[in-house]
Amino acid sequence: MATMKDFRNNVKPNWCPGCGDFAVQAAIQRAAANVGLEPEQLAIVSGIGCSGRISGYINAYGLHGIHGRALPIAQGLKMANRELTVIASGGDGDGFAIGMGHTVHAIRRNIDITYIVMDNQIYGLTKGQNSPRSAQGFINAKYSPQGSIEPALSPLEMALAAGATFVAQSFSSNLKQLTAVIEAALKHNGFSFVNIFSPCVTFNKVNTYEWFKENIVDLDEIPDYDPTNRAAAMAKIMETNGMLTGLIYQNKEKVSYENLVPNFPKEALCKQPLEISEEDFQKL
Ligand code: SF4
Ligand code: MG
Repeated sequence: MATMKDFRNNVKPNWCPGCGDFAVQAAIQRAAANVGLEPEQLAIVSGIGCSGRISGYINAYGLHGIHGRALPIAQGLKMANRELTVIASGGDGDGFAIGMGHTVHAIRRNIDITYIVMDNQIYGLTKGQNSPRSAQGFINAKYSPQGSIEPALSPLEMALAAGATFVAQSFSSNLKQLTAVIEAALKHNGFSFVNIFSPCVTFNKVNTYEWFKENIVDLDEIPDYDPTNRAAAMAKIMETNGMLTGLIYQNKEKVSYENLVPNFPKEALCKQPLEISEEDFQKL
């Protein structure tokens, strides 16, 4: 049986020291091992951004796609090979700006994949512009010196309103919870939406680790919370201004898309190994 180490490869991440994405990488590796996956049973498709590099840092099938398009690729992959566990991942800019159309429709479509968003509330790769997650009034010396005029998107409200069957949120500093929610997401039969507060230590000097620690409301400390109650989940998200972490909502009754397609084969559509010569591979 694979352990967390089997999901490691030799590629050294070039994230800045302290970047929240390191914890997300570790949590995915640990969760994949905990749910009993082997590296060849997992595929990670990522978008563009610092977080998009994650598909290259985990020993599994990986595809670093184009900006905002991780979800269409990941959904296609799952439909072509239902035997694979598929994770789509990216940042808040990738998923909630250019990729937002895909995000909403992937949520309501409910194909059995997991979508992990590394939410640092800015665009990190391109040096700190405001993202759809930057708060109204967010002061950024270069891009919004007088404070951002636009209000921030609420990803949890968006996901619930779009019909999500699994909604969770966590924080890079809480590896235990982060691993647990990714594990639950991988086990969920349907589309799992996981938003992770993953601080950018280089360009976001407002939403720091300390800021998150002060503002997060942890569901693990609210024992009577019922994640099957959609209306209560929406109320709690609004009451906490979206700062809730833990498993927020899960509907285990809804059947995933691929199981609703009449006569859709249960096995992979293509099982032939890709036959390619070393010479042709080098030309790719
Ligand atoms: Fe992480 Fe920010 Fe550095 Fe990008 S710029 S690697 S998001 S800390
Ligand atoms: Mg970002």
